[in-house]
Amino acid sequence: MKSLRILLLFAVIPWVATAQPSQPKNVIFIVGDGMGTAQVYSSVVAQGEGSAFLRFPVTGFSRTYSYNKYTTDSGAGGTALMTGHKVENKHIAFGPNREWYPSFLTKAKCKQGRKVGFVVTSSVLDATPAATYAHVSYRKQFDSISMQMAQCGFDVMIGGDLNHFLPANREDGLTPIVTMQEAGYQMIYDVKELDTARGPLLCGLLSEDNPAPAPQRGDMLLRGVKCALRNMENEKGFVLMIEGSQIDWACHDNDTVRLAAEMSDFETVLHYVLDYARRDGNTLVVVTADHETGGLTLLKGDISKRSNQYHFATGNHSGVMVPVFAYGPGAEQFSGIQQNTAIARKIMKLLGLGD
Ligand SMILES: [Zn+2]
Repeated sequence: MKSLRILLLFAVIPWVATAQPSQPKNVIFIVGDGMGTAQVYSSVVAQGEGSAFLRFPVTGFSRTYSYNKYTTDSGAGGTALMTGHKVENKHIAFGPNREWYPSFLTKAKCKQGRKVGFVVTSSVLDATPAATYAHVSYRKQFDSISMQMAQCGFDVMIGGDLNHFLPANREDGLTPIVTMQEAGYQMIYDVKELDTARGPLLCGLLSEDNPAPAPQRGDMLLRGVKCALRNMENEKGFVLMIEGSQIDWACHDNDTVRLAAEMSDFETVLHYVLDYARRDGNTLVVVTADHETGGLTLLKGDISKRSNQYHFATGNHSGVMVPVFAYGPGAEQFSGIQQNTAIARKIMKLLGLGD
């Protein structure tokens, strides 16, 4: 009888182990805005065997169409990735029947007390970061978005666009910057301050308008990510969203020099995050795009010289699938062709937030 029990125990253990997906303590979600497979491959060619994209054990694709358009914008694209809902283009976490959809960052903060935040190379009010904390029917409602940001309670928020936080540049004359200071945020206006900034609440508004393109903005993204990770590590876990925002802008302009510089900046951050996740062992890293920009393809190049010949089909977004890369506990969930909304839902499930 005893040996039968032991036999049963051994028979059950492997089943339990495979039935339960591994649960990460921390999630780092990284968006390359406008980053399709050609943008990624151009970077793999440029970096050779040292490309960070080659370090991901799991890859998949994301279907990016929005609620009402074949080709999404960053408002609907960001919303799908952060909240798990497809909405109309130009809307941010705001449904067709005026629903407000919370992001997995908001849920992780409010339901579980995890630390949450974002670091981006655009305005902190741009569509992708806004989809993590704001709800608006039009993505350019910056007065409303900034006020919602000031009151969202995220632990770390870093990007550009100080101007929209000052009354002189607003139609409503409000002062979200004062709201944030009163809520206890340490405000950071200089990239160098990121190296020593101590929370618990941090807000970096590192440029008056949008941050400069790469390489002119230096290592702002990497420094922001280091600052965020240093301040967000805690026993309950954290959720950090990082965006390489200007890959999209370089592709809108069909500017190959800027695209290469943005991808190189992005690769540096990917390496840092993957090293962090490898050391930590309990951090899931997911990388994807909200959509592709430029209809980019690569017809020729020289592998030995690490060069690409770029061809753009448009100055706008395209409707093609975009790649997904995953590393760490739960990574295997992100393989195959999936809806952009499924990415958010899988993250919520892995975090124990339902779906
Ligand atoms: Zn765009």
